[in-house]
Amino acid sequence: MTANSWSISGEAAALHRDALVWDAHGGFAYSAASVLAELERWRHAGVDVLSLNLGYDATPWTLAIDAAASYRAWVRQHPEHYLQVETVDDILRAKREGKLAITFDLEGMNALNGNVGMVDLYYRLGVRQMLFAYNLNNLAGGGCHDEDSGLTDFGREIIREMNRVGMLVDCSHCGYRTSMEAIEASEAPVIFSHSNARALHDHERNIWDDQALACAATGGVVGVTGVGLFLGPGGATVEHLVEHIDHYVQLLGPEHVAIGMDSVLLQEQDEPLYDRARNFWPARQYPGERATIIPPEAFPLVTEALLKRGYTDGQIRGILGENFLGVARSVWK
Ligand SMILES: [Zn+2]
Repeated sequence: MTANSWSISGEAAALHRDALVWDAHGGFAYSAASVLAELERWRHAGVDVLSLNLGYDATPWTLAIDAAASYRAWVRQHPEHYLQVETVDDILRAKREGKLAITFDLEGMNALNGNVGMVDLYYRLGVRQMLFAYNLNNLAGGGCHDEDSGLTDFGREIIREMNRVGMLVDCSHCGYRTSMEAIEASEAPVIFSHSNARALHDHERNIWDDQALACAATGGVVGVTGVGLFLGPGGATVEHLVEHIDHYVQLLGPEHVAIGMDSVLLQEQDEPLYDRARNFWPARQYPGERATIIPPEAFPLVTEALLKRGYTDGQIRGILGENFLGVARSVWK
């Protein structure tokens, strides 16, 4: 891709092309693997690593296994542009070879089917981060839109197993108490893969500053997300995203900030999988028919916006991907 095709300055394009760009969460809502052809949109936007979502608490765990199998096969069949990540070295190799490196994530521990042994299995399938509860409570802990009942004994057992196998403990989508107890319980750095600042926009999916600070104190990172509802009244714009980045940089220091854009390319046929009434509750938190989300094409614009704000090259490289790389280096096995 040339600098001009991104419609940004030459300086921003050069930095964006050279930097490791890591999108800590996004995907397709569990469609057939053929939709992965759309991963070109991330690759053309200069993204080097994407954590592809395999499922969330409302989808059957068997679907997550099925998605892992079919996505892995698709990536294997497209080796010229994509690479399935097993180790941190694979990330660096993908960057060198101009490929998009693919990791997987799970949004909610219903995917374990009550079996802690599934953590190791998922890790072997390529899952490198998993969050506790998707908005509503489950066997592991509390969701952010539910009664905040905290981490369960099962949840603690899972954290020990995640620490053992090297899977990142992700506190996005869970309740306040569950997040704080998980951060306390984990022996490895934890992340919020895609959570904006509640200090800027008071939505239950966003997190308070003390949650972000506790995460950073473990050596972890907080990823800002491009979902308009969580960015605030101005909606899904890069300008808004950068405000949340700025907030976290002031609060945590630039080395604890990352990006989990959550550019879900929802297919029409997948809409029934989203049980809106159940999973996006209360309704007042989710007005409108469909969420607007910053698309993957906006990544180069984020780099340019951060340069315009006066961030240094080093700070921008950290936020774009090197901060997340550091966490992966210290946690993945
Ligand atoms: Zn999510």
